Order: sequence, then structure tokens, then C-alpha cells
Amino acid sequence: MQVISCDICKKKMDNPVTDRTFYYIGGYGLCEACKDNLEYSIKPTIRNKEPFSMEWYRKILGDSLEKATQKGRI
Ligand SMILES: [Zn+2]
Repeated sequence: MQVISCDICKKKMDNPVTDRTFYYIGGYGLCEACKDNLEYSIKPTIRNKEPFSMEWYRKILGDSLEKATQKGRI
């Protein structure tokens, strides 16, 4: 049995299924709840960004993830 823990909330997951119950984003492993929170927290920023660029998006994502790992939550 494979056990992996979320890089943000440290919740342990038994037999994680990538992209279904566990997500790899920007080099971090996230549980579903943290992935949802991440998307929710950056959505307003993304919506108002003109012009949108992938480079900018990746930076926002990276910054949010870095802060979240330090806080232990998003
Ligand atoms: Zn989590």
C-alpha cells in the first residue's frame, strides 16, 4: 500500500490516485481539499489579470504554494 501525504496540510492519503484524489501542481503534491482551496484562492486574481500569460500564472501558483506550505494551509 502506498501512503503519501499532502505537502500543504500534511494529511496522509492511502493509495492516492493522481489527478483524482491527489494532484501534482507546481512541484507540490496536494490533496483534493487543498487543490480546491488553491483554485478558489487564486481564481479572483486570475479573472482580473489582463493580459493573461502562462508565465504569470505559474508564478502566482508557485508563490501561493510556497506560502501555503509555510502556513500549512491555503
Ligand atoms: Zn492537503
